[in-house]
Amino acid sequence: MAPVVKGELSDAEQKMLDAILKGSTAEIAALLKEPGVRVDCLDKTGMTPLQHAAFKGRADVCRLLLDNGADVNSNYHENDYSTLHFAALSGKVDVTNLVLEAGANVDHTNSVNRTASQMAAFVGQHDCVRAINNFFPKFELEKFTVPTGFEKEPKLPPVLLNPLYLLINSTNLNPVKVALFLKEHRDLVLESYKVCKVLDLVVECAMKSRSTNDVQAIKCHYFASIIRHANKSLKNSEDNLDAFVKSLAKGRDSDGFQEMQDRLVRQSLKEFPYPESQLLQTLVRQIAPMKIGDGSALSVLISGMYGPSFEDDTACTTCGETKAEKKCSACKCVNYCNQTCQKLHWPTHKKFCKILAVEQEKREAKQKEEEKRQKQKQAEMEAEMKAAKLTEATSSEETQTKGDNSAAAGGDNSQAGGSESKTEESDINGKESGEEKTTDNKTGEAVEGSAETS
Ligand SMILES: [Zn+2]
Ligand SMILES: [Zn+2]
Repeated sequence: MAPVVKGELSDAEQKMLDAILKGSTAEIAALLKEPGVRVDCLDKTGMTPLQHAAFKGRADVCRLLLDNGADVNSNYHENDYSTLHFAALSGKVDVTNLVLEAGANVDHTNSVNRTASQMAAFVGQHDCVRAINNFFPKFELEKFTVPTGFEKEPKLPPVLLNPLYLLINSTNLNPVKVALFLKEHRDLVLESYKVCKVLDLVVECAMKSRSTNDVQAIKCHYFASIIRHANKSLKNSEDNLDAFVKSLAKGRDSDGFQEMQDRLVRQSLKEFPYPESQLLQTLVRQIAPMKIGDGSALSVLISGMYGPSFEDDTACTTCGETKAEKKCSACKCVNYCNQTCQKLHWPTHKKFCKILAVEQEKREAKQKEEEKRQKQKQAEMEAEMKAAKLTEATSSEETQTKGDNSAAAGGDNSQAGGSESKTEESDINGKESGEEKTTDNKTGEAVEGSAETS
């Protein structure tokens, strides 16, 4: 087969690239079936359709292209960006995981010698950095779904493969988030004995392999702890884990501190079966001196596992998910992913919402006051300028009657008037405003100057 040439696209291939940017999956699927359409065709920069879809953050399209045989490690981009680079830059964890699962090479570097993980860190996509650095391949779990040796049944029921794989690769360690996931995949809790046994084996493997992976081990052990807790909390077979989720989200009356979460994190670390782990020792050293409520064991755990994170003011107050865009409408001080998260936090938040609202109101009032002061100041300045212009006009009239050279002053005056009306317009027009302001300033100085002399 002839090598693929950059930028040599058939009409249908061009249409497919356009559809990846703004079309539906059905449209792309139809285009893929057209004769002569190559799933790995290259645009003029050397990007494949899959790379475009990854950069756009379109998980559905990535899956479709991969199912159609797209090469996840295509390497023709002009700056050596891989599909994983594009996925990481998109900031979408699901796309990043999909590309990783398809066998993306995590060590591939681009033309500035950066891996996908390093590029993601560079642009602040920390969720994707975590996803790449902590990726657990599916085949490692798959082997537990077939019986080995004398086993009559596999260690992991095959139906639990996907949910467990998703759990292990999730990067959010917030217990509420984990509990919400378990609520959706309740079989993991109902079969907790088997699931936790598999997780224990993953932990063992991570700690006993040649290059130990403490992060992976502590994370899997931690998830197993939450699953065991969830299982213990089950009242009956109908229990949908609502009570468990609520208990984790609940904050104490005095300050809203989520005590149950904190105790769960501490207990999980205490029970980690490899006390020689350096990471464990670091975590324990930091958490042990903290009294319950003094600081968050969860924050210590997260920064210990993933490195210090930046204060994220878009994180959901309930589940820690980033980019939570809904705010409590009363106080505007807390973010949530959705109504579920808000409802979960309300029993705790309602005790503080009013106080926060008052504080927020004060802040807003202060801001308004400041704006008012600024406006007043501006109005005063404008009035002063007008008065000065008036004086100047009278003085120029006087000079005119005296028969002096009045042209310059008159010209200045008209310019001042002209530019004043223009400044309002120029606020909208960024580029012009700079120029106009300079003229205005000059005229202002000129006006002031003449006011002084008169
Ligand atoms: Zn949330
Ligand atoms: Zn509120």
